[in-house]
Amino acid sequence: MDNSVKFIRINPHISLITSDLNFICAQIGIIQGKKESLLIDAGASCAQINLLKEKIESKELNNNISKCIITHFHPDHIKNLEILNNLEVIGSKNTSRYTRVDTLINKNATLDLGDISVEIIPLPSIHAKGSLCIYIPVYKIMFIGDSLCLRGENDNKRVTNKDITINMVNILKSHPTDLYIDGHKPFLNTSKVNEYLDFLLDKCKKSPSFNVEISKEEYDEDNLLDFFM
Ligand SMILES: [Zn+2]
Repeated sequence: MDNSVKFIRINPHISLITSDLNFICAQIGIIQGKKESLLIDAGASCAQINLLKEKIESKELNNNISKCIITHFHPDHIKNLEILNNLEVIGSKNTSRYTRVDTLINKNATLDLGDISVEIIPLPSIHAKGSLCIYIPVYKIMFIGDSLCLRGENDNKRVTNKDITINMVNILKSHPTDLYIDGHKPFLNTSKVNEYLDFLLDKCKKSPSFNVEISKEEYDEDNLLDFFM
């Protein structure tokens, strides 16, 4: 298997540097604007930073990356901030307990990168407290971090919290989305994600208890995968 880190261009403004599959590592999103550019998550592998530098040197990426938005505080998403120490870090209050955050987000915010704008949206998530999702309206692309990954009770059972999940699904569904980008897997199948969100919403609304159990037979998260690579 080819474990190497890859550069994927999605459109003229948006690209990805994929996870280093040799260990637990998040991928890096890149949004390029005329005025400035930013990263979504820092990843955890030096190979990702080397590839990023390579793409800037070869002018495939703009040399104006000034910010990094962190979707949530987990080490595989923030580790490379140690290297990317010249970037302004944008994150939630909870994320700031684990790493340097220069600009705190506690409500929806819009960033104007010149010829493209980016919305940063606090997202209630059972996966990690203080999660953010990032929406690019012009392309209807939503970076969702690891928010679809529910808490695993064991291999065959997932558990989620009713209110947190209902709020999460409602926020995601209020943004028309053609492509969801996960924290680890390059692309998700949009119709399967929408199906999954509807399933979660229905399951949580019907649940009498705040802890909602989901068995693997009911819904398999692996079903969402749609690798283009
Ligand atoms: Zn995570």
